[in-house]
Amino acid sequence: MSLAGQLYKLQQLDLELQEKQRELSEVENQLSDNNALVAAESQLASQKEQLEDARKKQKSSEWELEDLQEKVRQIDSKLYSGKTKDPKELINLEKEVKGLKSQIRTKEDALLGLMGQVEEIEAKVKTTAEEVERLKREWEQRQETFKPKKGEIETVLTELRGDRDELARQINSEAFNIYERIKLTRGQAVVKVERGRCLGCHITVPTSQWQKAKAGDLIQCNNCSRILYLE
Ligand SMILES: [Zn+2]
Repeated sequence: MSLAGQLYKLQQLDLELQEKQRELSEVENQLSDNNALVAAESQLASQKEQLEDARKKQKSSEWELEDLQEKVRQIDSKLYSGKTKDPKELINLEKEVKGLKSQIRTKEDALLGLMGQVEEIEAKVKTTAEEVERLKREWEQRQETFKPKKGEIETVLTELRGDRDELARQINSEAFNIYERIKLTRGQAVVKVERGRCLGCHITVPTSQWQKAKAGDLIQCNNCSRILYLE
């Protein structure tokens, strides 16, 4: 095989390596991307905190209501036991009961509101918990699918690297360095000549040049410096 032919083959291996490397990073992204799950889990945690808060508020509102009801019961028993005879005191006690009952009504309304809030947050927690479960299953499925795929790609990459190393060892080091340098600046270092034109820059290659390239000399395009390859 001519030197340009070897470099052309090296380039093909490099392109395959690049492609496999790209596939590998895609698969690795799929394996590590758990952003949606993490976000849903943190949403669930904050909704659970909200729920706990709302339940505490509900509980303390219930206790306050019980206290007020207990007070009413105590005054009622005073009022109806017949022990209190003083009319003035009786009037005051009745006033007090009236005030307490109005407080109870306000408290009951507030309690209903709090119970509504608790129910609302409970529904949210349920929905988010289901979403977390769904995302967890999806993530596990993705692991199952992409882990073997990652292994396959890594095997191919190892083989390709082996092939490339072996070929690179056979190539004259000066030519290899030229190849690497052009690859850095131009991407594609070796190009075919078709109908007398360099396929890298589409400029006509002088006949003497491509004839030398065909004969096996390492010839670079006068215009773009790429290595010319003729089969
Ligand atoms: Zn060119």
